[in-house]
Amino acid sequence: MINELLRRAKEVMPGGVSSPVRALTAVENEPMFIERAKGSKFWDVNGKEYIDLCMSFGPLILGHAHDEIVQMLKVAVEKGTSFGTSTPLEVNLAEKIVESHSATDWVRFVNSGTEAVMSAIRLARGATGKEIIIKFAGCYHGHVDSMLVKAGSGLATFGISSSKGVLAEVSKKTVVLPLGEIGALESAFEKYSIAAVIIEGVPANNGLLIQTKAFMKKVEELAHKNGALFILDEVITGFRLGLGGATAFYDLNPDIVTFGKVIGGGLPVGAYGGKRELMYHVSPLGSVYQAGTLSGNPLAMVAGNKVLDILKEKAIYDKLEKLGGQFEERLMDEFTDLNVDFTVRRVGSIIWTILGENLSPVVPEEVSKEMITKYTSFHKNALKEGVYLPPSAFEVSFLSTAHSETLDELITKLKIAGEKI
Ligand SMILES: *Cc1c(COP(=O)(O)O)cnc(C)c1O
Repeated sequence: MINELLRRAKEVMPGGVSSPVRALTAVENEPMFIERAKGSKFWDVNGKEYIDLCMSFGPLILGHAHDEIVQMLKVAVEKGTSFGTSTPLEVNLAEKIVESHSATDWVRFVNSGTEAVMSAIRLARGATGKEIIIKFAGCYHGHVDSMLVKAGSGLATFGISSSKGVLAEVSKKTVVLPLGEIGALESAFEKYSIAAVIIEGVPANNGLLIQTKAFMKKVEELAHKNGALFILDEVITGFRLGLGGATAFYDLNPDIVTFGKVIGGGLPVGAYGGKRELMYHVSPLGSVYQAGTLSGNPLAMVAGNKVLDILKEKAIYDKLEKLGGQFEERLMDEFTDLNVDFTVRRVGSIIWTILGENLSPVVPEEVSKEMITKYTSFHKNALKEGVYLPPSAFEVSFLSTAHSETLDELITKLKIAGEKI
């Protein structure tokens, strides 16, 4: 069945997928075809069961098909799936975001994290009248043209796009800097007139490159000192690190925050928000245009509201922190027993596993070819055992509350997968 689906998919879709990492190319495999999911598990079209550690790349903090969310969606779908008007649901969700995020007075909903970042950048340029954006190597901000830019080595370089089809004029307006290097940031501000600096709440798209609070604060401080806006991309960290996201975690005061993933409860959604005086520039009040036929979609809003309600009521983050700690500790123990070089990087329920010893990877270049090859082998073995690890050595795992029930099974299976690397 899977081979036939794969053949048909590849006949009509590039690589047989709707998003490139799903092709599993990085782990020398083929796309998976999943039919249904519940809690920490999903089942493919052949009925094979997997514990999922990818969790749709981050949104499913309460697990797949959470009962209460499913119930709410069933009721909502009967009432209509799109009105092209405002709804009480989006007001509710906006209030919850504003209440949790100190730096955010107003929110605009969009349909993906990419759209949120694209709009945030347009707003930053519109509001400051400047053009150049600073981003950091190793940070992913969706497939926005100006953000698909590789780092040059060493000091500040103007970006060269890592994708064909992006105009050189566009990538030239993005300055790419190394993470963690304040000096490089200072010289970039001296050299150029900067509209905004953008950074992930915790860089988690190229491994987990946890930055110090001092660095995050310095990015903000230098931006503000130089009349630039500070954009915190919380598409992963928003409501994942805690209700206040990385903003609260690092005690930051960003001008614009971008959201996605968790706030949609598994439905397509994104949002950007910021201080009132800045958000005033957004249409219809201001002259920065941004719109969306399905933005604030009632189904996405219902799921988002329910997730945030549960996150708020039930001390979820304490549970996730504990679960993350147990997962980390037990996995390290098993791999030490197996005598396999292994490092775990973790912040809360976001976990990066590397098949190498004692790395201090602030930069992903420290991950060697050999470690990547070992990860591929680990991934294949895990699939056989019934665990779906993230499909690249540079993708992180996400735990959900549902993983507490399957932790023992998960560790046992990963140990077997590790033995055969
Ligand atoms: C996933 C992600 C995006 C893009 O979100 P999409 O919904 O995939 O468009 C942007 N920024 C960060 C930090 C992300 O992790």
